[in-house]
Amino acid sequence: MKEILGFFLFFLASSFLFLKYAKNNKFFYKTVFITIICLFMTAFSFIYWHKQDIGEVRDSSFHESPDFKKKKDSPDDQYPLPGQEGKHPPKNEGTPPAKPGDEQDYQDEKHAPPAVPAPIIVPDGGTVEYTVAKGDTLYSISRRSGFTVTDLKLWNGLTTNAIYTGQTIKLYGKNAAAPSSPVPPPTQEAPSGSASSRSISQGSTKIKEIAFTFDAGSDIAGIDIINVLNKNKVKATFFLTGKWVEKYPSYAKQIAAEGHEIGNHGYNHLDALKVDMETFKQDLLQAEAAILKATGRLPRPYFRFPYGSFNEAALKAAGQAGYPYSIYWSLDTVDWKQPSTELLINSIEKGASNGDIVLMHIGGIHTPEAVDQMIPKLKAKGYRLVTLTELMN
Ligand SMILES: [Zn+2]
Repeated sequence: MKEILGFFLFFLASSFLFLKYAKNNKFFYKTVFITIICLFMTAFSFIYWHKQDIGEVRDSSFHESPDFKKKKDSPDDQYPLPGQEGKHPPKNEGTPPAKPGDEQDYQDEKHAPPAVPAPIIVPDGGTVEYTVAKGDTLYSISRRSGFTVTDLKLWNGLTTNAIYTGQTIKLYGKNAAAPSSPVPPPTQEAPSGSASSRSISQGSTKIKEIAFTFDAGSDIAGIDIINVLNKNKVKATFFLTGKWVEKYPSYAKQIAAEGHEIGNHGYNHLDALKVDMETFKQDLLQAEAAILKATGRLPRPYFRFPYGSFNEAALKAAGQAGYPYSIYWSLDTVDWKQPSTELLINSIEKGASNGDIVLMHIGGIHTPEAVDQMIPKLKAKGYRLVTLTELMN
């Protein structure tokens, strides 16, 4: 609009100049006529611009608060704008905001969605259970809620930054009783078979205890770990696959006989995110039968997802198969990549902290030697090396 006005002003000025020069020639009346038209159009554009200006001001108020319009026709109004929080406290604090459907609502409106996603408001003293939507990261949730990634991980027992769509992330407001340890120690009685398995990645961070866990799936390189643990009088937890126990039943028997705990690691070491849940459940039960046959013991109540790969549905399947606890880890030695003994010792020594669940493997060539040297060091630091059951109680 300003351009049009400028053009007419320029045209007006030119006309006056022309008028001045052409005062006494034959174009005089023609020039006067053009000048009058220019004046008229300038006046018109002035009025038009003024009207448009008012309209634009009204429009921009919508741009600033796209929620304003939404509030009127959407009952699930959960996130007032910053500054309006006091006046309009969230009604449904337990309902996760930013469902995929919300974006659709915005698309339907005349005005584009805001560049900044809706803030996640957690009321003082209250909690919010946020359901992870597609594209969310811990960082985006952190930005939107104002909490640090560290807090989010602590509150939800996360050891990595990986989250998945549909996962519930708990947020604790100011003065709310947030968990001080990543996972509160579970109660003695295990949840019923129909409930979802619970993902555990660490014990209490207040107690100087560490649980060594060993996954066995492929070979028996580093099987000497059994003797190392025996020599150091340390009990650990072994997650065995059905295939492994069928291939090496005598070692499976020895692990059980020496008083270590045994958990289920599936039969075929399936990735829970790549198979249907019925197949996954059957695989888990097949492993259970094989482990029972080889060791005389049921691997319940502990299951470890192959590749540490799981989602909500997989937790449900594991729970239904009779495994209330899905054991993740808080310290990964990455020993399957066959690092040197020194590197292994270093990773445990530097990383060890209260309540840690340490992930190691049968198949780690240097693992027995590293563990043999690590045990006295950890004990000297005051740590007790315990089984998962001891860690969780
Ligand atoms: Zn594995």
